[in-house]
Amino acid sequence: MKKRFIVFGAPRLERAEEREVLATMRSGWIGTGPRVARFEAAFGRYVGARHAAAVSSGTAALHLAMLASGVGPGDEVVTTPLTFAATANAILHAGATPVFADVDPVTQNLDPGRAAAAVTRKTRALLPVHFAGRPCDMDALGAIARRRRLLVIEDAAHAIEARWRGRACGTIGDLGCFSFYVTKNLTTAEGGMVTTAKASYAETVKTLALHGMTKDAWRRFSDSGYRHYQVVAPGFKYNLIDLHAAIGLRQLPRIERWWRRRRALWAYYTRRFAGLPVALPSADVGRGRHALHLFTVHLDLARLRLDRDGVMMALFRRGVGCGVHYIALHLQPYYRKRFGFRPNDFPVAAWISERTLSLPLSAALTDGEAERVADAFVAVIRGAARAPSGRDGPRRFGSA
Ligand SMILES: *Cc1c(COP(=O)(O)O)cnc(C)c1O
Repeated sequence: MKKRFIVFGAPRLERAEEREVLATMRSGWIGTGPRVARFEAAFGRYVGARHAAAVSSGTAALHLAMLASGVGPGDEVVTTPLTFAATANAILHAGATPVFADVDPVTQNLDPGRAAAAVTRKTRALLPVHFAGRPCDMDALGAIARRRRLLVIEDAAHAIEARWRGRACGTIGDLGCFSFYVTKNLTTAEGGMVTTAKASYAETVKTLALHGMTKDAWRRFSDSGYRHYQVVAPGFKYNLIDLHAAIGLRQLPRIERWWRRRRALWAYYTRRFAGLPVALPSADVGRGRHALHLFTVHLDLARLRLDRDGVMMALFRRGVGCGVHYIALHLQPYYRKRFGFRPNDFPVAAWISERTLSLPLSAALTDGEAERVADAFVAVIRGAARAPSGRDGPRRFGSA
């Protein structure tokens, strides 16, 4: 019998989610309504945010976070090139200009020193991404923001369970943006959230997420009677719906349990891969907590006969799906052409782009599947190992 292909980033969905979705359908209210409101309240409590506004995706969250805080044409936003396209695309959607600063080779997060050097008189905001779930150095970034009077907008798409000095990532800056895409630590199939301590930001996000209609519009068909809405801005169609919030409502109470499951998988991989010519990620973040979203290994290419794509193909043939996080944005055709980037403009991000590989880390993975992933990876890497040739620079790091 052929073994089932192990899909990268498969969501863990259980009976509770199925029952809640069914109950939502049977309630007759599948659009934006009471379950979205409950999900916002529960999520806000979980991360400790004063306000939480649900939207249809993490990308919408980023876009609206910028619009609500006044980031727009003429502004520069300093961010990392080692991120998903949505981070920088959203800056462009807001009419502003993304300015990349290179990452730290150990944490893979925005390097605060390089971020500070990228700030100009046009800079309006810092947009750190808590890469793979590892919190950014929010003390250092906060100090830059205070000194230069910048907003801090956190891309916490990987970092729902991440903490920095006891505070949840996404609640430390002015606004936090979360994603509930299928592969994320908590999913609503598609969805996102903006968190903030500032009521006016949350209000604006909610208004812009639904055609620019005033907040009362969210209740306009409720049993409190029909109310005329007022359009106060040319808004978007970025509302989360109850059918999606239903899934999130049932995922949230189990988020810590699934985090512990990923921690066990992480420890297992770390044990199994010791001694291989790969640098393993570290879950140790000192003053914070890693959300353990991605298990990213960096291949020691000087000691392998395969390149990263070759390793990926070999894993696929063995029934293991994996991911690449990321090919840095300055290497992508649109950004390369528009801004005239060269690979060495951000050498650390370029170096990571060439050799990074993410192995399945979903809480949906069984012990047997984790063993198959580990067996396949060990076999592929051992099979491709060779005596070191040349240097594999900027430096080796993070190896367990
Ligand atoms: C997933 C992701 C997003 C976008 O989220 P969507 O919900 O897919 O729109 C933004 N930034 C990062 C770093 C992500 O991983």
